[in-house]
Amino acid sequence: MQIITDPSQLQQTCLQWRAQGQRIALVPTMGFFHAGHESLMEHARTVADKVVVTLFVNPTQFGPGEDLEAYPRDHDRDTAVASARGVDVLFMPAPGTMYEADHATWVEVPELARGLCGLTRPTHFRGVCTVVLKLFMLTLPHMAFFGQKDWQQLAIIRRMTRDLNVPVHVEGRPIVREQDGLALSSRNVYLLPDERRQAPAIRAGLCLAADMAARGEKDTATLAEAIRTYWREHLPAGTEDYLAFVHPESLAPVTRMDGQVLCAVAVRLGKARLIDNILMGS
Ligand code: AMP
Repeated sequence: MQIITDPSQLQQTCLQWRAQGQRIALVPTMGFFHAGHESLMEHARTVADKVVVTLFVNPTQFGPGEDLEAYPRDHDRDTAVASARGVDVLFMPAPGTMYEADHATWVEVPELARGLCGLTRPTHFRGVCTVVLKLFMLTLPHMAFFGQKDWQQLAIIRRMTRDLNVPVHVEGRPIVREQDGLALSSRNVYLLPDERRQAPAIRAGLCLAADMAARGEKDTATLAEAIRTYWREHLPAGTEDYLAFVHPESLAPVTRMDGQVLCAVAVRLGKARLIDNILMGS
C-alpha cells in the first residue's frame, strides 16, 4: 500500500491509473477505523481495480465548539487496517495542504442541508460537500462509497453529484453495528461505561417504531412518541437532538406513512452526539 500525503501526487497517480483504464474506487473517511470503514474498503476492493482511501479530519465541516481537536486519531493502526484490507493508496494529506490560506470556493446543497443535522450544525454539510468534491477532483474515481449511517450526508452528496454532472457513481452501503445494535462510530469512544450500556436503546427505539409501522401505524407523530417513551425508560442519560420522519431522498418531513420513510435521529449521550436511522414502510 502506498501512503500519499501530497494532493498533487495523489492526482498524478490517479490520472495515470485512469489513462491505463483502471477502475478507481474512493472511500473518504476521517480515520480511526472501525468495521464500518472496513466494510466500505472491503466492498471497494471487490468492485474496483484501484482502491483509494482518504483519511482527513476536515476542519471545514466542524463548527465552533465541536470536537475537531478531540476527534480520535490513530494513524499507525489505521495504516495497518487499510493495508490489511488491500487498499492501494491511503491518502493522509499533510497539514495545510488541502486548503489554501485564501480558499474561497464552497459547494452547498441548502435544501437538503437545513434540517436534521443541519439544525445544530449549520455549516457542516457545506464543509462535507466541498471536501468531497475536492477529493473527487483529486482522485477522479469511477465510484465512491459512503455509509448509510450518515444518510443525510449520502443524500446530499448524491444530489451534488447529480446537479453538477460529476461522473462518479455514488453508492450507499449498509450500517455496520455492534452485536447489541449500536451503530459503529469513531465517536463511540467518547462514551462512559454507563452511557455505552444505554446507547443500544437508540436503535431499539427505532426498531420499535418500524415494527409499529409494519403493523399498520400511519401517523409519524405517534411513532415518534413511541420512540420517545422508550428512550425515557431505556436511555435516561440521552438527550434528543432531533427525531424526524422524512422522505429518504428529498429529506422533506413526512406526517403520514406512505411508501418508504426514513426515521433519522441524533442523540447526545455524555460527550458523544450519536446519529442513527432506519428505513420503514414500503
Ligand atoms: P467517518 O470517518 O465517520 O467520516 O466515516 C467515513 C465513512 O464511513 C462515511 O461514509 C460513513 O458513513 C461511513 N461509516 C461510518 N460509520 C459507519 C457504520 N457504522 N457502518 C457503515 N458505514 C459507516
